[in-house]
Amino acid sequence: MRVIFKPEGGAGIEIPTPPDGSPDASVPGVCPGCGAGGFRVRGENCRIAADDRAYESNARAACCAAIVGVLRAEPGTIFGLTEDEAVLNGRPRVY
Ligand SMILES: [Zn+2]
Repeated sequence: MRVIFKPEGGAGIEIPTPPDGSPDASVPGVCPGCGAGGFRVRGENCRIAADDRAYESNARAACCAAIVGVLRAEPGTIFGLTEDEAVLNGRPRVY
């Protein structure tokens, strides 16, 4: 799975995938909210991205609690996440 941090108004950067169960993710660089270096962000309000290929959430900085961008997790879906979730939730599939 790829995890991308996209700061407000900036280009997305791939960040190391946090271990399972980790409450936040480490982002290189400087916090756009308060200037702290090597800051961490936590995802809020997780939803399926508009392109149906990833989950997106608002990225809230752990240091200053500012919303500093978007976290995007790309699990590598074949059918699209809407379809994958429907399959996982047991909807019968017609071929
Ligand atoms: Zn901060």
